[in-house]
Amino acid sequence: MPIGGTGKLRVTFYGVRGSTPCHGDETRRYGGNTSCVVIAAPGENPLILDLGTGLRYFARTLPHGKPANVNVLLSHLHWDHIQGLPFFAPLLHEETKVHVVAPKQDDCDLEEAMRRAITPPIFPVELNALAATITYQPVTDETFKIDGFVVTSRAVPHVGPTLGFRVQWQDKVVTYIPDHQQPLNGAVEFTDGALDLMRDADLLIHDAQYLPEEFPRRSNWGHCTTEFAVQGARRSNVKHLALFHHDPGRTDDSLDRIHDALDAETGKSMRLSTAREGLTLEI
Ligand SMILES: [Zn+2]
Ligand SMILES: [Zn+2]
Repeated sequence: MPIGGTGKLRVTFYGVRGSTPCHGDETRRYGGNTSCVVIAAPGENPLILDLGTGLRYFARTLPHGKPANVNVLLSHLHWDHIQGLPFFAPLLHEETKVHVVAPKQDDCDLEEAMRRAITPPIFPVELNALAATITYQPVTDETFKIDGFVVTSRAVPHVGPTLGFRVQWQDKVVTYIPDHQQPLNGAVEFTDGALDLMRDADLLIHDAQYLPEEFPRRSNWGHCTTEFAVQGARRSNVKHLALFHHDPGRTDDSLDRIHDALDAETGKSMRLSTAREGLTLEI
């Protein structure tokens, strides 16, 4: 397709929660599944951002009992970002292909790390015993192609090797930074890598785990404030910011209040969404 074509990207949220799944009346509207977002573009295989528990619900949108061919950009290997993988129903089909791009690990092979996470006695079966073929591509700071998507990966401050991704398809850019350690002193300063990822993005999906008043008590837990996300988007000329990776203790009503306050502050300069399960954004 020519650059600047009229195709649209559809970005759908299947899990928006950080740290651990949560459930109950207070989190029903935004949802309690952990990180999983799917980018769909005409003619391309689905591009999955992280393998949290929301992945199981994405699988429900696929033809039942049929193989799947999907690509995954995995930000890092923390539990909340991989827990959905062994429950992805198409893994039971031998023609299913799952290609996982993830950060190169410091001290072990990426595939080995995934096998060690999903193995008895922690999980009933070995990941390799499932019928599907799973392939791994360890990356660092790189630019590469996945089908028709051009992907840029950059290391992002968090806990352990962690990447953010910038996904370009035709002239549209989606940036995904789900877990982002703000400087410990609370400064609103960004690494060059993070700025590379966010610059002029049509949509930025960004960590929004804490409120500014909560940050001092959890400053070294690997995350940032809602304000940090807004400032990053603003400095990077982002058109649309989706607040993401909500704290599991955050209720629907409090997410509404946070959204309304920030929306009033950002005004017309930028579109603001608070990610919830089932939300699809078209760009
Ligand atoms: Zn996380
Ligand atoms: Zn993490």
